[in-house]
Amino acid sequence: MYALPAALDILSVGYRLVRGSLKRRLDEAAPLEVQQRISRYAHGALGAHDVRTRRAGQVTFIECHLVVPGEMPVEVTHRICEALKDSLRRVFQGSLVTIHVEPESKANPQGIVVR
Ligand SMILES: [Zn+2]
Repeated sequence: MYALPAALDILSVGYRLVRGSLKRRLDEAAPLEVQQRISRYAHGALGAHDVRTRRAGQVTFIECHLVVPGEMPVEVTHRICEALKDSLRRVFQGSLVTIHVEPESKANPQGIVVR
């Protein structure tokens, strides 16, 4: 009588555990090529951190925090971001790149750091 709900519950917990660990692994594993591109093409930036990639179907989502001098003009920062996005999109066709810009004084790395 109680076997089916218990079995479904175990399956559900198992599914969530596996899904959670896979998702974490994908979120944390920024391919070396992404890191190399960031350090090569983010000219003028001081570095990047919290580099993450995630695949969903055909799309690769790439995220990073870009650290720039606090006094850097928005025009210049924007140019750096565009160059970096273009470079990443050339390698990872169809990727969606999100860059969070922050001044050096607010940088607080939580993940992969690129210099
Ligand atoms: Zn940050």
